[in-house]
Amino acid sequence: MNPFDEFPTREMANLSFLVSDIDDTLTLDGVLPAAVYAALETMRAKGIKVILITGRPAGWCDMIARFWPIDAVVGENGSFYFKPENGQIKRVWIDETETRTTNLAKLQVMAEQIVGEFPGTALAEDNPWRATDVAVDFAEDVEALPLTVAEQIRVRFEQMGATAKVSSIHVNAWIGSYDKLSMFERLLAAEYKLSVDDILTKTIYTGDSPNDAPMFRRFFLSVGMKSVTQYDMPKSDLPGFVTDGDGADGFMEVAEQVLQSKKNQS
Ligand SMILES: [Mg+2]
Repeated sequence: MNPFDEFPTREMANLSFLVSDIDDTLTLDGVLPAAVYAALETMRAKGIKVILITGRPAGWCDMIARFWPIDAVVGENGSFYFKPENGQIKRVWIDETETRTTNLAKLQVMAEQIVGEFPGTALAEDNPWRATDVAVDFAEDVEALPLTVAEQIRVRFEQMGATAKVSSIHVNAWIGSYDKLSMFERLLAAEYKLSVDDILTKTIYTGDSPNDAPMFRRFFLSVGMKSVTQYDMPKSDLPGFVTDGDGADGFMEVAEQVLQSKKNQS
């Protein structure tokens, strides 16, 4: 990882997509600062497509798609995307309704068993708003547990036949091989008739944790918030660049540079 200061200026000036994680990337200590929201709005006004990619539930993403200044949101680690369109929300899911219902019931059984096996963890408070995955809380509404515990939980889910990823606060588990990147690729193809290769040199990805690894691996113009350094991630999973600040502070380092380069053009 190189310091964000070394991000190439030519690429910055050509940027057309800002793709970002939400928790601990746009937020700091659990709060979305006004400056970040304003930066997203300004970037869109400058013609940059803003696409958010999160492990958060469908219920949250419904609100984000309706209210936030964004072009689309991918949620539940790639299970769906919601896109505001002509005053309505277009919803595209990986699985049919029936499959989602069956899988969710299986995942809830797994999660309850795992919470019983790992003292101090809990079913995440945002589970009731999830449509396709479950989250076990190790650091949001419970006393923060070490990341080694989160990793053990991830392995346990995989032993049970689920796919699982660690974020900064939850271990999310789902059934299927999709991830943040695969759904982003589908969104690009369906909505913009583009592939990742088409936009590789024009896209910045910002994230902070192992569930961003599929995006960090694919986008060489990826930026990790400083806290990304606390995870024991293989080198290939790390972003190209890292900020000085954590969460929203780090994101604003990026946003200010993006907006500065657009200002220089106009
Ligand atoms: Mg995050």
